[in-house]
Amino acid sequence: MENTHLSSQTGNLRDALIQIRNAPLAPESGMAVMPSTRADIAQELGGEGKSFYIETFGCQMNVHDSEKVAGVLMARGYRPVDSHEEADVILYNTCSIREKAAQKVFSRLGAFRKGGAAAGKIIGVLGCVAQQEGERFFERTPHVSLVCGSASYAQLPDLLAQLESGNRRVTGLGLDTEACFETEFTRRDNRFRAYLTIIEGCSQHCAFCVVPMTRGPERSRPGERIITECRRLVDGGYTEIQILGQIVNAWRDPSPARWCFAELLARIAEVRGVRRVRFTTSHPLYFTPDIVAAIDSHPTLCNQIHLPVQAGSSRVLARMLRGYSREEYLERINCIRKARRAISLSTDMIVGFCGEGEDDFLETLSLLREVEYDQVFSFKFSPRPNTPARDFSDTVPEEEKSRRLAELQEAQREIQLRRNLKLVGQVFEVLVEGYQPRSGQAVGRTTTNKVLNFHGESADIGCYQQVKVTSAGPNSLVGERICDKRQSSAIGPDLEHRAQSGRGTQSAIAHRQSAIEGGAYGS
Ligand code: SF4
Repeated sequence: MENTHLSSQTGNLRDALIQIRNAPLAPESGMAVMPSTRADIAQELGGEGKSFYIETFGCQMNVHDSEKVAGVLMARGYRPVDSHEEADVILYNTCSIREKAAQKVFSRLGAFRKGGAAAGKIIGVLGCVAQQEGERFFERTPHVSLVCGSASYAQLPDLLAQLESGNRRVTGLGLDTEACFETEFTRRDNRFRAYLTIIEGCSQHCAFCVVPMTRGPERSRPGERIITECRRLVDGGYTEIQILGQIVNAWRDPSPARWCFAELLARIAEVRGVRRVRFTTSHPLYFTPDIVAAIDSHPTLCNQIHLPVQAGSSRVLARMLRGYSREEYLERINCIRKARRAISLSTDMIVGFCGEGEDDFLETLSLLREVEYDQVFSFKFSPRPNTPARDFSDTVPEEEKSRRLAELQEAQREIQLRRNLKLVGQVFEVLVEGYQPRSGQAVGRTTTNKVLNFHGESADIGCYQQVKVTSAGPNSLVGERICDKRQSSAIGPDLEHRAQSGRGTQSAIAHRQSAIEGGAYGS
């Protein structure tokens, strides 16, 4: 798990401005828009107002939430800065999926105790740990002024207004909501892949997971609104769209049109200018054959599906309250394997869940070998607050969890190497996301989400290239460009300028890490 921060150097202000230009005059969510006119907003973007810094922990949903929070702040005249030292407002967007992530936040906040470092600053905690700890933050870290869970982000403008008018402490902790976090504009920090949230929250209540308690119940955005945002993203220069949701395929159109998820996928894929569409995270319970059919009929839908299984034993799956058996999961995999295109598969797995015996673990290993995933995000079970599994007594010893995790990861390493070696000699189109000047390597990503490095240059960033694989390791491929003609991903001139000058390379790599690690969350 990595944390990322939104920096003024890497933010896509052009996107924000385009979104303002194209935004409807009345905000869709009914949120107050301040300052009063769009021209004022544009003028104040990156302007002379108070400064803010956001550090983000956790998954892609959090990364995208931070982009939207940054948009809300910039609409109020705040300007982003690169470090908390420079900032008037410091926000931590937190993750509580595992204990270590939650501890990191308290360690960041603890640093402000020393030498009055918090003096004159507004410090806020957002996201899952904010929701989980609530007002306890004020006792534990008295210099915190704002505590807001993701289900209450729609109230952020009001909360900021209260802080600006002198309120010392404000909270947004309600979970009883039907509102999605809609923003007038979003500051997009990833210049190659635009995140687009279609559904928020989760109502599934798996025994190990905090998400339903921290993100609130499931709520879908209307289909037409999603398509409108998608068109704006294309206008802003994006060709790759990553659709997000805690259970992305549980999306159901709340509007009278009543599209299903597969229909939405098809409509997004058909938006003129969209070249790649990914979606994460799918839940096996909602994974239907029409999703595979949509991929078959729309080449812009990437050859990649992330379908978390969590465990290979039906007994453990039932204990986890996952709602499907091993056999039912494998039926979904068979359906995906029958697609006309070879679809790359990734998953999440937990070892050492309460009551997991050696036989259960061997079933997980056998499922791993049967499916032959291209990527697996695997973890030792750790109990989280307010989850049913917290009260289970039949825990697995830590050393046993570690042994199982090491065995699983070694088995997967062998599978990945074997699968990647089969790709040597094949040609793939990659979208170039980064460039490492020291090695002269450009970093691209295939439609199957594999990292493919090749000898390139900074000007390749943001372009699609045809690359032939020449060697393979378990985690990435190496190749050589077979055609020197750069096909721009249609990024705008300002980005191309930054690419030429080499700026932003690190950002692209940081986002790649974030996206990879983001696979560990959600369904
Ligand atoms: S693991 Fe996924 S489906 Fe289960 S409760 Fe958490 S977010 Fe929901």
